[in-house]
Amino acid sequence: MTQMRHSELRPRHLTTSVRDDFPLLAAEPEDTGLVYLDNAATTQKPQAVLDAITGYYTTINSNVGRGYHRLGLASTEAFEQARVAAQEFLGAAGPDEIVFTRGTTDATNLLAATVGRRLVGPGDQVVITGMEHNSNLLPWRRLAEEAGAELVVVPVAVDGRVRLADFTAALGPRVRIAAFAHVSNVLGTVNPVREMIAAAHRHGVVTVVDGAQAVAHRRVDVRDLDADFYCFSGHKVYGPMGTGVLYGRRDLLVEVAPYQVGGGTVKGVSFAEPVTYVPVPARLEAGTPDVAGGLGLAAALRYLTDLGWDAVRAHDESLVRAAVDAFDGIDGLRVVGDPARDPSGIVSFAIDGLHPYDVGGHLDRHNIAVRCGVHCSSTFLDSLDLVGTVRVSFAVYNTERDLERVCDALRTVRPGFW
Ligand code: PLP
Repeated sequence: MTQMRHSELRPRHLTTSVRDDFPLLAAEPEDTGLVYLDNAATTQKPQAVLDAITGYYTTINSNVGRGYHRLGLASTEAFEQARVAAQEFLGAAGPDEIVFTRGTTDATNLLAATVGRRLVGPGDQVVITGMEHNSNLLPWRRLAEEAGAELVVVPVAVDGRVRLADFTAALGPRVRIAAFAHVSNVLGTVNPVREMIAAAHRHGVVTVVDGAQAVAHRRVDVRDLDADFYCFSGHKVYGPMGTGVLYGRRDLLVEVAPYQVGGGTVKGVSFAEPVTYVPVPARLEAGTPDVAGGLGLAAALRYLTDLGWDAVRAHDESLVRAAVDAFDGIDGLRVVGDPARDPSGIVSFAIDGLHPYDVGGHLDRHNIAVRCGVHCSSTFLDSLDLVGTVRVSFAVYNTERDLERVCDALRTVRPGFW
């Protein structure tokens, strides 16, 4: 039944039936209730995800990888199936290439502390781009500072994208790691990641792709990208908070030393012998994992995949293009970057004479949730010479009616509302 409803979806109307799948939104009257457009910060959760979490706790709750009893085995099996769902979602070669994390931040910290510390030494360089979220900036900055290495920041072009030529120019013999966003959380612009990875590989550079803003909006195939490491957060892709995935290409992942150590990471410990760690991914998942979260995340990935990538892409394109067109008619409003070029659900804008918080506060009084400010990317906003932007970010349940309500509210915004 659910399958049928999803397959009926039209690009411009991927909406009413989908909205019903999300209890927090379905509880609101469609015409006057909450318009939720802060999806790049976190998405709402469909019933399927809530059911997976509740179902776990009410039927098979038990620790994983430890208990030789019925529940323990069922729970372990379900958790490993969730890993397979993540593997399939990313097109990875095997489930052993999937590490469950607490999110993107957890993954970038893990990589900087393990792969980073192993590869980067005094005089080396780590390359990032000028558009990174703090979570893909600070771990590398700290690594560079601690290793006596240099952090090289590739500038962002005026259209909000990283030019391949600028990225390639930064790749020299001292570069060990390059870490960059697939999609900008500020402007929604898409980087040429496949080409960036290929260029990095020609220089023997290991790549880390921050996919936090990509995976809810486009099919990602890590083998097609030839990614070394690729990470994302579950809560931005309709899954639970505090969940995430780190993909690592098998030949690289097997080399990654333990990040945190503790239960689940060792074969056996004695005071007399050196510690022998278990293989990845278990070696990188110390302690009891968020099993219910993993199952919820798997349900979210299945939910999104079942909607169909063509429908999701068409829906994104239609709403982003409609937003750019509609915003064009609003006095003093300037869309930043070129979000309609390859839409990823995000449209960021500024309004002459208004602070982004003035606009956000005004929209909130109209029951519209957006994000305003620097989006954890103050370095990028500085380079754009902006104090911040108002960011509208769409998800599968948003409608053209949502956009109309935003535009109606924006026509009445005045300075000093906040
Ligand atoms: N990277 C990007 C591009 C993001 O947009 C975000 C969150 O907004 C993060 C990393 C951090 O994600 P999390 O807070 O889920 O770890």
